[in-house]
Amino acid sequence: MSVVGFDVGFQSCYVAVARAGGIETVANEYSDRCTPSFVSFGPRNRSIGAAAKSQVVTNCKNTVQGFKRFHGRAFSDPYVQAAKSSLVYDLAQMPTGTTGIKVMYMEEEKVFSIEQVTGMLLTKLKETAEAALKKPVADCVISVPSFFTDAERRSDLPAPEEKPRTVVFVDVGHAGYQVSVCAFNKGKLKVLGSAFDPELGGKDFDEVLVKYFCEEFAKKYKLDVRSKPRALVRLYQECEKLKKLMSANSSDLPLNIECFMNDIDVSGTLNRAKFEELCTELLAKVEAPLRSIMEQTRLKKEDIYAVEIIGGASRIPAIKERISKFFGKELSTTLNLDEAVARGCALQCA
Ligand code: ATP
Ligand code: MG
Repeated sequence: MSVVGFDVGFQSCYVAVARAGGIETVANEYSDRCTPSFVSFGPRNRSIGAAAKSQVVTNCKNTVQGFKRFHGRAFSDPYVQAAKSSLVYDLAQMPTGTTGIKVMYMEEEKVFSIEQVTGMLLTKLKETAEAALKKPVADCVISVPSFFTDAERRSDLPAPEEKPRTVVFVDVGHAGYQVSVCAFNKGKLKVLGSAFDPELGGKDFDEVLVKYFCEEFAKKYKLDVRSKPRALVRLYQECEKLKKLMSANSSDLPLNIECFMNDIDVSGTLNRAKFEELCTELLAKVEAPLRSIMEQTRLKKEDIYAVEIIGGASRIPAIKERISKFFGKELSTTLNLDEAVARGCALQCA
């Protein structure tokens, strides 16, 4: 029987399979273990994953991303209404009142529910799993926020009757930030507490950068970037790249975009110190969920055996520093921070 774990992230998805006594993360048709959470609708077909992401600039109105946060929300939900204005694609109300996505597909206007779009993405992930397994997927576990079990694989855990080992898991993803505390014994895992901030993730740091460069380019080139969806999408892409570069380098780094708007080439620079200054408010939000789990569980900092970080945005040095300082500990990266959730799902399923 083939069992599979899917981590459906806001930005990226991972597929893990349980086989031959182990858990393995599998690659898609591009030999990439990461599949972007994008669906793109075209005049003749639709594409999903990497093929869809590559159309985010050329077919921006019909390439949907970041839809995970609309699951189960009414169209009239203030959250949806507030998000609407910053999206490049259109949202619409479904007959049932929930949120839908309006696109041109096969030359017709269509409204798909969030569940349908996620379903399309899952179909793709299932195909990826089946191509790797060479047989149909029988069962799967899909990640939902706040669940981690990958560390259960470790074999040097205390015996069931001994004092459990307490590990804090911190996941800083693209859209959300989640913290869980788990107590491990051999063959046993107990989730002691969890806390989250659904409004803190990598995308909020991208937002800060985009805002900064929009203001810069307004001053320097008299451009209103937000008036052109295509330019805005390109700026988001470049800002995300710059954000990642700033995690590895503290020197001044360039941001250049050719023929950005009205045939103008734009350029700017930023460095990590200035970036951290711009993100002061966001960085201040790192601590609250950490404090909350300590209060919930009444644990003392010395009770914590390890703090494991996962999720792409946990690579931001200022975030790591704050977490590490809070616990007074070096952070552990025992888990593959991109793949841990999918692997935990496959393990749960097995
Ligand atoms: P979520 O868990 O919120 O649904 P996700 O699982 O799709 O989202 P991840 O793949 O864990 O999110 O993380 C993606 C985020 O991590 C993006 O914002 C990305 O820009 C950011 N990121 C990845 N690498 C780096 C890096 N080196 N420095 C800073 N940020 C990074
Ligand atoms: Mg995630």
